[in-house]
Amino acid sequence: MTLKPDWTALGQETTQMLSELLQIDTTNPPGDEYKAIEYLQKKLQKEKIETEILAKEPKRANLIARLKGKRPGQRLLLLSHVDVVPVADPKRWKYPPFSGAIAEGCVWGRGALDMKCMTALEFMVMALFQRAKLDFAGELILVAAADEEKGSVYGAEWLCKTYPDKLRADWALNEGGGLPVQIGNKIFYTINSIEKGLWWFKVRVKGSSGHGSIPHANNALSKSAYIIDRTARYKFPKKIAPAVREFILRAGEALGPEMHKLALVLVDETKELDLPQFPPNSPVSAQLLNALVRTTISPTMIHAGVKENVIPDSCEFVLDCRLVPGYTRERVQETLLELAGEYKNDLEIETINAHDVSGSPIDDRFYKLIEETIRAEVPGAGTIPLMLTGATDSRFVRELGVKAYGFCPMSTKMNLADRERLIHNDNERIDVESLELGVRVLAKIAMKALDAKL
Ligand SMILES: [Zn+2]
Repeated sequence: MTLKPDWTALGQETTQMLSELLQIDTTNPPGDEYKAIEYLQKKLQKEKIETEILAKEPKRANLIARLKGKRPGQRLLLLSHVDVVPVADPKRWKYPPFSGAIAEGCVWGRGALDMKCMTALEFMVMALFQRAKLDFAGELILVAAADEEKGSVYGAEWLCKTYPDKLRADWALNEGGGLPVQIGNKIFYTINSIEKGLWWFKVRVKGSSGHGSIPHANNALSKSAYIIDRTARYKFPKKIAPAVREFILRAGEALGPEMHKLALVLVDETKELDLPQFPPNSPVSAQLLNALVRTTISPTMIHAGVKENVIPDSCEFVLDCRLVPGYTRERVQETLLELAGEYKNDLEIETINAHDVSGSPIDDRFYKLIEETIRAEVPGAGTIPLMLTGATDSRFVRELGVKAYGFCPMSTKMNLADRERLIHNDNERIDVESLELGVRVLAKIAMKALDAKL
């Protein structure tokens, strides 16, 4: 048969489905993802697609669905999470956060961008394969997971540990990319292939107590201030991942010959340079570039003292460290002790949370396929690899050997800054054009990856 999907109709169906998903409150905590998972299961059953619900706790359910091709081939995993972050104040929303209102060309609700949009899109891709009875190779797997917003303890982390074979695939598509970014006068679609490592740790500095009216040098608070200041100013050596190199060079090129020259210096690990000021709202900023090329530390919390006139004998502060590939927590700790100088024996370090850098290659066939597809669907657009400074569930499936990429293409209707402001924020919404583009692009990527014959 010939397949000429009606992309407009599929876009409308995605819009309707997203609206319904947004009406199911899966705020995490507490999560209660089973309501959304049951909804999805019903939708899949209607399409006669095999599903399975897996849960560490009944209310924290995850769903897996699979479609097997007629020929042997690669396996593609369509991954998403169905939990959402809490709403701060529903009164600040133009349409209620769990209304799923379709208004002003958008679907409104908590999770519209992060990331029930992709859950709906991935369902539609699978439904399209099934409805068109596509002859394809390999396997299409859909996973809708719980608990991403609170560390995936009931979601992807647990699934990957408990049922690795059910999630193992050659490639995965997940959140974390697909935003059109204007650099110079060209639009680039971001593809996330790598996520920085994370180490949140508490530093306890010991001193001795005393009366505030008789100062002494062993004040835990002032010693901490010294260490915090030196740590915050410290520049870790550069370590450039291939995806970051590509990002900087492509962005530099788009910004003209002068910036391209700077970009070449920026990707040189042996050279440092002072970055120029970028225009406000620019997707490329000196801070972002700095965070891409090296391990960084931000001091984020501090606690010391019980009374105005008592010198504290201990001070605790928290450092948020993000690691680039090739840099270990041990090295960060060594650096911290060096920076503490004469106070280095007065410190205790306690890990709060940690995970390693996670990445997939950008010279991979599937990555190239994402690039080709979006370029064909959005004429004039380029692509740019992006290293996330945060983390997604991709890191868990990567541990199973899956090459995972963050890509959910959005229209250019909203600019990057506005869209990013809506994530985890009031009035979260997605424009209908993005859903229409998303279903078309993701379906075409999946069809090419699995060698679907029309
Ligand atoms: Zn998310």
